[in-house]
Amino acid sequence: MKRKILDDTRRMLKEKTRRWAEHIKVEPTQIRVQTMTRKWASCSTTGWISLAVDLADQPNAFQDYVIVHELLHLRVPNHGKLFKSLLTVYLPEWRATASINESRRITCSDQRKSPFKVNSAQ
Ligand SMILES: [Zn+2]
Repeated sequence: MKRKILDDTRRMLKEKTRRWAEHIKVEPTQIRVQTMTRKWASCSTTGWISLAVDLADQPNAFQDYVIVHELLHLRVPNHGKLFKSLLTVYLPEWRATASINESRRITCSDQRKSPFKVNSAQ
């Protein structure tokens, strides 16, 4: 990708993430857009969100799904009932959308070492 296009892509994805973050009322400490080949996105327990730059080539609904998935992990550190019901609140069609492209993972980097308390999900 040419530099200008790459910059625009990064800006677009960050902007989209910021809008969703406001909507969901979470505050990622940093949003990074970078080249990732095995993941669409990841998040860290310190609140960093990383997105694959070529997520921009995916359908809009899929971009939203990946972004909302990661942002919700800032509130719920697992994929339990609460996580799924929040996904449904923001993206009613998320199950269908998630299956659009399962070629890469969406991860939360160090969930097992997560400092989140179980009841922070309430
Ligand atoms: Zn997840």
